[in-house]
Amino acid sequence: MIKCCVVCGREFEGHGNRIYCGAECRRKVINETQLRKWHERHGRKESICEICGKPIINARGNQSYHECCLLEDVRRTLRSGKKISPAQRNRLHMKGIPISEIRATL
Ligand SMILES: [Zn+2]
Ligand SMILES: [Zn+2]
Repeated sequence: MIKCCVVCGREFEGHGNRIYCGAECRRKVINETQLRKWHERHGRKESICEICGKPIINARGNQSYHECCLLEDVRRTLRSGKKISPAQRNRLHMKGIPISEIRATL
């Protein structure tokens, strides 16, 4: 099944409860898990994806959603024949992803 890597946001072919695409991202998950424990102890909040509600591992700056959640969210809207919302348009703009590119992969 196609899954979304929680680290780099790319889609990958995964089985079971694997949440990352490869060894490189696995290492980051382990590092981030330790970092999160540190944050918990020191009262720092981790980023939560606005779209799927799961934590964002390796979040950069003000990243507030997984890249592939955004793509899937927009694809779902387009597939249902609706127009994308201003928020979705904004997110795509922030990522520099043209809508035409998503339409091409519907
Ligand atoms: Zn990855
Ligand atoms: Zn997400």
